[in-house]
Amino acid sequence: MADRYLHFTGTAPGRFLTRRLGLPQPAPLRRWSLDTPRLEGPLLHLTAGSGAGAGADTGARARAQAGAGARASAGADVGAVAGTAAGLAEVLAGVGLPVVGRADRPGAVVLDATGVTTAAGLGDVHAALHPVVRSLAPGGRIVVLGTVPSPDDHHQAAAQQALEGFVRSLGKEIGRGSTVQLVRLPGVRAPGAPAPDVQVPDVRVPDVRVPDVPASGIRLPGGGATAQGAASTLRFLLSPRSAYVSGQVIELTDATPEPVTDPAAPLAGRTALVTGAARGIGAAVASVLARDGARVIALDVPGVREELERTAARLGATPLPLDITAPDAADRIAAAAPDGLGVLVHNAGITRDRRLANMPAERWTSVIEVNLDSVLRTTDELLKAGTIRRGGRIVATASIAGIAGNNGQTNYAASKAGIIGLVRSLGPRAAADHGVTVNAVAPGFIETKMTAAVPFFIREAGRRMNSLSQGGLPVDVAEAVAWFAQPDSTAVNGQVLRVCGQSLLGA
Ligand code: NAD
Repeated sequence: MADRYLHFTGTAPGRFLTRRLGLPQPAPLRRWSLDTPRLEGPLLHLTAGSGAGAGADTGARARAQAGAGARASAGADVGAVAGTAAGLAEVLAGVGLPVVGRADRPGAVVLDATGVTTAAGLGDVHAALHPVVRSLAPGGRIVVLGTVPSPDDHHQAAAQQALEGFVRSLGKEIGRGSTVQLVRLPGVRAPGAPAPDVQVPDVRVPDVRVPDVPASGIRLPGGGATAQGAASTLRFLLSPRSAYVSGQVIELTDATPEPVTDPAAPLAGRTALVTGAARGIGAAVASVLARDGARVIALDVPGVREELERTAARLGATPLPLDITAPDAADRIAAAAPDGLGVLVHNAGITRDRRLANMPAERWTSVIEVNLDSVLRTTDELLKAGTIRRGGRIVATASIAGIAGNNGQTNYAASKAGIIGLVRSLGPRAAADHGVTVNAVAPGFIETKMTAAVPFFIREAGRRMNSLSQGGLPVDVAEAVAWFAQPDSTAVNGQVLRVCGQSLLGA
């Protein structure tokens, strides 16, 4: 159903009226297409903290480091300044936007805050972003790079956890269709370790005192390899593909990414199976995976065979009419994919809403069975049989209801929270035992037939109660699934990505 309010606020009288009344101002989102493959404006690369401890001169240091970024664009050594990674500059260059150290109107800003290890060092974050946040182009991106809060160093943990609150708050206030995320790189804390490999090169402006406090010893293992592990994530977040993702915290592992041989068709040679693919989000996932070069098998219940066949024909996919709860579902999937699966997307899902007091057991059981139990069972069986090949990707579908809970959805929220438990637990073990990653998307309000059927006022509330003041589209969820599915997303594992425009519901 068309979002008429979004259309209205795009007109001059609509903008005027809604501003005067203090109503939400949704900005049209720039989504990926062949015509709009990139964000508008250059990528500004800034550094905060530099691992050198906090000093009184934080603002000046951030400015100096911003200057270092400028040199990087001219070929100088950004990685050494960032301390994160010699490879970071290379990875950012691969995003496809010109990387600069200063810009009047950046399309994206990457702030390397991996070196922020003290509360005072957070001043660098303010100093780096305060001058640029207002000039970010509409639909822009801010990505803060951090490290995992350390269990051994409460100062580092406080500083790094602070970044989460910062990012989530900035996401809520930035407006104009812009988004803000935190990506945690796999730093390890070495207590008492010597200063990390940060050589502050001779790029300081003359008035900057770099304090001679020793760095607190956060090391990013592998340097360039760490940055390479973040490449697919940064490509996704710094592109129109992540239009409806904001306020998210993504934690990367130190796994070595697999190479992508053809960036235009990164899933070429891989077979992807998508459940619930006849319509809605599943059809969009199938479409985006096909766009990325995968051979797609589109599975849905036999009851929607015609719709499934139409969708499959449109995408050049193979239809597989099958109820995912069937006892032999895994065997039939394996038979349909004799060469194995590179990507398995558990998207099929149902709702049977009622408050618990009015909910018969059948409503409870059917939702748990489709949304969770069948996912657990088929995943276990397909992994055990080796149908999901090494380097494979499993993506399940949770929901913000599984994070925040929802009135009348004890069954649905339980099933979706169960998905979150599944991916967090299985992700590391599946990587170790099978070379497979396991992640989940958690959609918020997505414009599908399901949400079109929601009563007007509840639908309007669902659409507006997020930082982007609008509903997402099925393709927004599909792009997130495609990011998880990338061959070089190996370091993305056990993650739950909310695709909800930073909904007010949940964290
Ligand atoms: P939808 O109802 O439009 O599509 C779901 C598809 O799953 C249908 O084609 C249906 O036939 C299929 N399906 C149902 N039971 C099945 C079974 N037993 N075996 C095989 N296929 C089966 O729903 P949607 O809005 O596209 O949602 C897709 C997924 O995203 C679901 O898991 C849903 O819970 C989740 N989700 C959706 C939203 C939203 O706003 N639309 C929000 C959060 C989560």
